[in-house]
Amino acid sequence: ERIISGEADIQEISFEQSLRPQNLKQYIGQDQVKKNLEIFIQAAKLRQETLDHVLLYGPPGLGKTTLAAIIANEMGVQMRTTAGPAIERPGDLAAILTALEPGDVLFIDEIHRLPRTIEEVLYPAMEDFCLDIVIGKGPSARSVRLDLPPFTLVGATTRAGSLSAPLRDRFGVLSRLEYYTEAQLTDIVIRTAEVLDTEIEDDAAIEVARRSRGTPRIANRLLRRVRDFAQVKGNGHIHNELANEALELLQVDRLGLDHIDHKLLIGIIEKFRGGPVGLETIAATIGEEAHTIEDVYEPYLLQIGFLQRTPRGRVVTDLVYRHFQLEVPKIE
Ligand code: ADP
Repeated sequence: ERIISGEADIQEISFEQSLRPQNLKQYIGQDQVKKNLEIFIQAAKLRQETLDHVLLYGPPGLGKTTLAAIIANEMGVQMRTTAGPAIERPGDLAAILTALEPGDVLFIDEIHRLPRTIEEVLYPAMEDFCLDIVIGKGPSARSVRLDLPPFTLVGATTRAGSLSAPLRDRFGVLSRLEYYTEAQLTDIVIRTAEVLDTEIEDDAAIEVARRSRGTPRIANRLLRRVRDFAQVKGNGHIHNELANEALELLQVDRLGLDHIDHKLLIGIIEKFRGGPVGLETIAATIGEEAHTIEDVYEPYLLQIGFLQRTPRGRVVTDLVYRHFQLEVPKIE
């Protein structure tokens, strides 16, 4: 298991639950997204209408689920949660939709994984708050229309590109979450330490933030490991030296890169002279699936400018050579 994976595992979920900010004010960063949502929420409240459907997209662990819950909170309604792969038949979706209270938020995580047949049920539900259900089979089959309570769909996806256009078009608000800055992550680490009743020095919080790949989930996870270390090796108080020592043990380097990133980057340098090299070839070289590289490993490497995508494949940049203290090759 990767300590810096953006996905949460089962044990982590209840821990995360306790750390979730409850309102937009407590939600750190994503200023543009917050500003927009604030206005939409206020307007919907003034008009006493439900909020438009919202699509949140961006890499895992950036706060999509958290933001969905905050939207429900700010609107003063309940949130129901499900996920694309969990809805297999139209009846599954119908059961969820008909159980909603007026105004509720329905959160569908991984919405790009909804089967197409289900998407089609969702269209009239999103547009007109109704369901067209076919009863019976063959010549006696007929379609009945069921009215639904008005609701707000909040969809989350790591890949907006793999959402079908008709589904995407039915969202009134599309918000892209960005990687967090080191300063924002430092604030998140300090806030989490407070919730956990743990003392942490500012420079230690910065160190944890720096290695968190721009991702709050990873920041919180690293902090938890550092806190364990501080309890066992010290008196529980987290200072810089101790944080560094713990983070070294976790094998997360100063930029938040781990052995898989190293393997990927060094692989491109050693086997392909820094690229360009195709995604499939990289995948075969390091023994990972191409889509895992594309969805999980690569986005952060692109973000920090270590990798570039070109029409002929991936290329490592000079920053990588410097990071690994290798000689930057001269252009021939
Ligand atoms: P996603 O749904 O995008 O995978 P989550 O909403 O589950 O991410 O967030 C992961 C963890 O990071 C949660 O425990 C949450 O408390 C924390 N988190 C995310 N965004 C923020 C933020 N803006 N401010 C504070 N904590 C955050």
